[in-house]
Amino acid sequence: MFSLMAALALATFSAPDAVKADGPFAQRGYYLTFMRMPTYDLADWERIVDGVRDDGGNTLFLWIAGGFRSHKYPITWKYNEDHENVRKDFVRSLIDHAHAKGIKVLLGFTPFGYDGANQYALEHPELRAVGKDGKPSAPFGIGCWGVNLCPSRPESQRFMLDYVREMAFDFYPNADGLMIESSDYAICHCDDCGERFFEKEFQFVRRISEEVWARKPDATVVVYPHYFSGADVPGFGVKAAKLPFDPRWSLMFTPHSAHPEPSLIKQARASFWSDDSPARRGPQDIQANAQRARREGMTGYVPSLEAFTFVASVAEEGQPWLKDQRQVPLGFGWLRPGDPPYDELPVRVNRIAFREFSSNPDLPLDRFREILGREVFGSASSRQAVDDLLDIQSVFNSGRTWCQPSPATCPERVRAMAARGESTNATRAEIRAALDRVRAIAARNQKPTTEGERDLRRIAIWVLDRWGEDDRKLLEAKPSL
Ligand SMILES: [Zn+2]
Repeated sequence: MFSLMAALALATFSAPDAVKADGPFAQRGYYLTFMRMPTYDLADWERIVDGVRDDGGNTLFLWIAGGFRSHKYPITWKYNEDHENVRKDFVRSLIDHAHAKGIKVLLGFTPFGYDGANQYALEHPELRAVGKDGKPSAPFGIGCWGVNLCPSRPESQRFMLDYVREMAFDFYPNADGLMIESSDYAICHCDDCGERFFEKEFQFVRRISEEVWARKPDATVVVYPHYFSGADVPGFGVKAAKLPFDPRWSLMFTPHSAHPEPSLIKQARASFWSDDSPARRGPQDIQANAQRARREGMTGYVPSLEAFTFVASVAEEGQPWLKDQRQVPLGFGWLRPGDPPYDELPVRVNRIAFREFSSNPDLPLDRFREILGREVFGSASSRQAVDDLLDIQSVFNSGRTWCQPSPATCPERVRAMAARGESTNATRAEIRAALDRVRAIAARNQKPTTEGERDLRRIAIWVLDRWGEDDRKLLEAKPSL
């Protein structure tokens, strides 16, 4: 583990500055939706931050809005009052802890929408954004359901400024800057916004950026390219604004909502590629994204490792069976609500992949398998053991969505799919095949000699135990009519 040792050595010399990353990226780390993980306290979060460091990270995008006890706007956290940080504020201490580990923390939020901000419209319906159909926007959210605000309204601008000032200057002045994430699901289509939506959003973005830099000239402020590029913004049918770019900004790019802009990347202080592969996909996707980030000239690779533990107050993703249920972080249903998922075997595979591929995107897959096997099974590692480990990882992430576990690990989901007519002979056969492989993994590890084998067996048996006799009937092939 030369790269890790080197990074650790650097950590002792350069704290509290961010640890210098090895490999092609100056910034490495994860994007975490803190506000959607209400069940973890300071000790849990310190462990999570330590994990970021273990994975070679020096940067943490910590999405905070909706997850802190705003004095000015209690409506922003009312929905989240059970969140450990709303009960007893600890993020300032967490940021200090991160600094001691050489990790920079950027406070994440979405202007005029998503968690926290979307609650303000509940008290101020006159500020609601307008949808494409010309009608007031319908409620939307993930965990935090509300309505996005129209940025052309002075009161919306005033609220956003006040709320983020409180977060950044009163609550967490020790943070290293902001991660201002433009919404990926809706804008305002009213007569005043429309084609000029991103200009309106930018009024707030520029003002809060200047206020942050006035206090901390070196602060990192990450924004989306939608204010500068003039390009089509994915999904909204409007173009980005074409306003002057200040090279003090850093930029965020994603596969689904903000495509790379080479001319802006060259000017920006830093540029970050963020995709969902560590959270929802597998090692080869992580490698492909690390390679893409490097090819596009990004200075940083900070993908999502989001896990949710909120109780759904609505039918998330249109799935009534999720309502009133606590979200299962990364699909690991054996965890107690207060246990973070990040040390569990399937996600360790992706964390090791992130550590290795973000340090060396060209690492041959065989070499990765070797590193993975040695780390999990020690000298007992074998080709078969690594195959089994990668297979278990894929069983958990294959078909998993942000809010729903993978079908093979979740009969409730398969039952809902059947009720909606979405279960086909092909999907049923796929799940049966996955369960057969899991059964073989459990059998092969009947007499585990290492911690890794024990975990593999425990998790395999957990998956098989999900499926009672009635559940298995859901998987039977049906004669075609
Ligand atoms: Zn508007």
